[in-house]
Amino acid sequence: MNPSNETSKISKTKFIFITGGVLSSLGKGLAAAAIGALLESRSLTVTFQKLDPYINVDPGTMNPFQHGEVYVTDDGAETDLDLGHYERYTSVIMGQKHNYTSGRIYYSVITKERAGKYLGGTVQVIPHVTDEIKAAIRQLEGDADVAIIEIGGTIGDIESLPFLEAIRQFKYDAGEQNSIFIHVTLVPYIKTAGEVKTKPTQHSVKEMRAIGLQPDILLCRTGRQLSDEIKAKISLFCNVPPEAVITARDVKSIYEVPLLLHEEGLDARILELLNIWTGAPRLDSWYELVRKIKAPAHSVVIGIIGKYVELAESYKSLHEAIVHGGFANDAQVELRYVSAEDIEKKGAAGLLKGCSGILVPGGFGKRGVEGKVRAITYARERKVPFLGICLGMQLAVIEFAKNVAGLDKAASEEFDENTTQPVIYLMREWYDYRTGELQIRDEKSEKGGSMRLGAYPCVILESTFAHAAYGSKEVFERHRHRFEFNLKFRDQLVKSGMIISGISPPKEGVSPDLELVEIVELADHPWFLGCQFHPEFKSGPMKPHPIFKNFVKASLKFAKSG
Ligand code: GLN
Repeated sequence: MNPSNETSKISKTKFIFITGGVLSSLGKGLAAAAIGALLESRSLTVTFQKLDPYINVDPGTMNPFQHGEVYVTDDGAETDLDLGHYERYTSVIMGQKHNYTSGRIYYSVITKERAGKYLGGTVQVIPHVTDEIKAAIRQLEGDADVAIIEIGGTIGDIESLPFLEAIRQFKYDAGEQNSIFIHVTLVPYIKTAGEVKTKPTQHSVKEMRAIGLQPDILLCRTGRQLSDEIKAKISLFCNVPPEAVITARDVKSIYEVPLLLHEEGLDARILELLNIWTGAPRLDSWYELVRKIKAPAHSVVIGIIGKYVELAESYKSLHEAIVHGGFANDAQVELRYVSAEDIEKKGAAGLLKGCSGILVPGGFGKRGVEGKVRAITYARERKVPFLGICLGMQLAVIEFAKNVAGLDKAASEEFDENTTQPVIYLMREWYDYRTGELQIRDEKSEKGGSMRLGAYPCVILESTFAHAAYGSKEVFERHRHRFEFNLKFRDQLVKSGMIISGISPPKEGVSPDLELVEIVELADHPWFLGCQFHPEFKSGPMKPHPIFKNFVKASLKFAKSG
């Protein structure tokens, strides 16, 4: 490889690599997103990429319990949830090329090897795997002024080594002032000693330097503001100037992070290291947001009926989208996670008492379905504002079919393959909206394949909750599911009072006779809406999603009247 050629190739986009040390969950993804927000506030364009060391080819089939939610992009990629942070904090649109796992990298190397692309040479981690990683990173060249690349895992993990070696080479190839390393680390406060401890950070940086990476900036997660003495000590042991030791103090709201980092001088430092000149940052909207978050005028309790209620990460985007809906109404939303199985055991009324809004989110599999249906009956009968998302929408259709439309065998083929009233069914043939390709699936389709994924258009019917929320005739929303509303039952459900307010229309030349039901509502209710798509993937603190905004608004109204 010729470094001088490499330099000229990547001189346009500058790169920030973010690694993590000591332990996981230090908020690397949030730090990356916050850095993106700060750079955008200086009128720079940014893009992101998440490199995940695990072997799964994508997070699509991973258990949300272990890994948190699967985030879905417009182009239908099933990705790590950190891409959600990137989209929420900035104006970027993420997609396939913004998330790579070791599995995906190795898959590509092995496929090339099988095809004889390496001409019989010995295929090795260095250079073949590292070259593949660098090529993945280089796809971002020219997309933005600054690309922020987050490496998953923690320094010291065996599995992240190829990624770390690749970014070491990348920085060398890129030349001075074209890329920097930011290391997110922990500086814990030890109560018995009455002081913060720098040793874990020292060790983490030592570990990095042993593999040839010298951090340029340290982001120190800590409960206390770091004193100048502590910064000086970290600086000395870790070989970074004291100005590059940034206190990343714990905060109540994750939306305070960009301002906190800015006040510590992080964006100024980054720009200096990358030799980028910009005007002063425009952060008024972030200050305004934080001011609103800290002193909300109203508050409301919303119940979320789910399966993975013990792990907030598995409903990350949903949680944030509801909170954003609160921002739009100057309200603090208290999210009450209720286990669907608890409702099966104890009934809905007791557990949902005090909730002014009820939300049944997406999900897979039969477990807890009965409890979710009971929560929907409760919301429908007691006129509590209700939002059903994906599986939640499908269950709202089943609940209505059974209890109102007289289809007492109504079910989804997901839970009952032989039902005689499959109001939710597996569409055997359908068209991929983006490629126009015919997709064929059945019960035996490979797990992970055959889902309707990514953005599809949805045409909104006037004079509906959906239309009041969106205020427009056509929207694009993201999908991740196999089962669909069965049009065979449409007339009977509509006759009984269900409103179909959103339809994905047939597409000329792609899906000539295919209509897909996207949104259902109930007329005789203050606010009851189910959507087949996931609106939570398109919400941000500065752009609360209209569905969540209106759902929270209806819940506040219910709270006041109730
Ligand atoms: N399990 C349902 C389906 O596959 C719903 C999926 C979801 O809620 N994301 O259609």
